[in-house]
Amino acid sequence: MEHNTSNFIRDIIKEDLETGKRDHVITRFPPEPNGYLHIGHAKSIIINFDLADEFNGKTNLRFDDTNPLKEDTEFVEAIKEDVKWLGYDWDGLFFASDYFEEMYKRAVLLIKKGKAYVDDLTPDEIREYRGTLTEPGKESPYRDRSVEENLDLFERMRKGEFGNGEKVLRAKIDMGSPNINMRDPVLYRISHTTHHNTGDQWCIYPMYSFAHPIEDAIEGVTHSICTLEFEDQRPLYNWVVEECEMESQPQQIEFNRLNLTNTVMSKRKLKQLVDEGYVDGWDDPRMPTISGLRRRGYTPEAIRAFCRELGVSKVYSTVDSRMLDHFVREDLKLKAPRTMGILRPLKVVITNYPEGQIEMLEAEINPENPEMGTRQIPFSREIYIEQEDFMENPPKKYFRLFPGNEVRLKHAYFIKCEDVIKDEDGNVIEVHCTYDPETKSGTGFTGRKVKGTLHWVEATQAIPAEFRLYEPLILDEEAQDGEEEKTFLDHVNPNSLEVLNGFVEPNMKDVKPQDKFQFFRHGYFNVDPKHTTDEKAVFNLIVSLKSSFKM
Ligand code: ATP
Ligand code: MG
Repeated sequence: MEHNTSNFIRDIIKEDLETGKRDHVITRFPPEPNGYLHIGHAKSIIINFDLADEFNGKTNLRFDDTNPLKEDTEFVEAIKEDVKWLGYDWDGLFFASDYFEEMYKRAVLLIKKGKAYVDDLTPDEIREYRGTLTEPGKESPYRDRSVEENLDLFERMRKGEFGNGEKVLRAKIDMGSPNINMRDPVLYRISHTTHHNTGDQWCIYPMYSFAHPIEDAIEGVTHSICTLEFEDQRPLYNWVVEECEMESQPQQIEFNRLNLTNTVMSKRKLKQLVDEGYVDGWDDPRMPTISGLRRRGYTPEAIRAFCRELGVSKVYSTVDSRMLDHFVREDLKLKAPRTMGILRPLKVVITNYPEGQIEMLEAEINPENPEMGTRQIPFSREIYIEQEDFMENPPKKYFRLFPGNEVRLKHAYFIKCEDVIKDEDGNVIEVHCTYDPETKSGTGFTGRKVKGTLHWVEATQAIPAEFRLYEPLILDEEAQDGEEEKTFLDHVNPNSLEVLNGFVEPNMKDVKPQDKFQFFRHGYFNVDPKHTTDEKAVFNLIVSLKSSFKM
């Protein structure tokens, strides 16, 4: 795949500083507190904070809370936690709702300048009058109200004299504009709704396209970075800044939003997955939310490296979700202790090993990072191996355990399969082996070679553990964000979670939530913070060890 670490926004900022158009940089991350952040938001966070960092600037965290119906303080707190976890510290912490009075004043200014009017058309009529891409809009019969009448009506809207949807304040721009956003866009709507921050102080709320440029200007944001869908709104953004006579003039710059294969990212669809029980909450490890990725075991380092690698451009694209996996493997390679875990246990009895004896074997914690030292693992007459590592009638080229075959036990001895014990139904329940004391790991034995190396856990001291294996939540290669609700639910993978009960090494008894390990031959796992108890650790599969995906 092609590497694209270019960033055209960096070039714009550089030039602005060099030409003296700007003498400093302020960016912002402006989430609406109506849901949890996802990996797409992470890209926006990383772009905004990294660019400000690079040019000694500042970044504000601003909650764009202009739509009280869907917003909640629960989301405010979750968003703050996620931004911090990603490794960023905001300069200013602001709420758009703190500027409601200022926005109101600017709206009054527009009315006084003859640039805004109160309209009595219904929402449906407004839509009808707006025209289409090929047809111009029609002017509202209320468009030519006098300044005095508009001032009076707008004040009465604020006072609560009208019901929801009865009146709106609109900009007076151009119903014939080829850009539909410029056809007298609505600036204020009536909504008798309690706001999470301002309570019942307001019953009129500013629309996003009016509020956002004012918020940016009030904070002195220099580069207001947003996603490409807002490109057509840029003329309106500039119109608001200019006509509202804001002292500071932010510049809106649009970039390509992040889309990932095998996932959906629209908050509406994520909420649907939560509400309809497809997943276990916003932080389900299969969700592309920051809290889900965290619980799954992805690291902020991996997410940052992934987003930086993507670069910033204006080209629409869908990124292979396995690319994110690549970065988490890279990050955990040197950090995660190696250990052995058995996901689907099969008992092996080593018949020539002394009964009751336990010996301790030494094993490296991370061969790629020797500084992490060694660990002790017990070995005895009874161990567990994976069911899939034994076959009674193996095909050719099966190098693991089968009757008569010898394999290496990682960190221990060679064992040879001598006998198979079955239950009444013919299922293999135990395998009997002999071991060769000469072949002990670390003693330099070179007498003979075996092709298979198996992992194992000593049976009497093994700790029971739960393993949760994940597959993509959405089956399709292409992100389904363009689709209707029904169709997208058709693509939900019914086998995205598999829960297994197995065993881990006894030295794992004190693992803590969010500890990460590489289970030999299985992959990287994270200790689940929600389901892990003092009695039982639950390990979430972060990523398997290998992928067919090439960077
Ligand atoms: P959604 O469409 O999922 O509801 P949103 O864009 O409405 O998301 P906001 O809370 O308004 O959510 O987003 C905050 C910021 O994050 C915005 O600047 C937005 O452009 C950016 N953002 C949202 N989704 C993505 C994405 N997939 N890639 C990059 N940036 C994104
Ligand atoms: Mg938005």
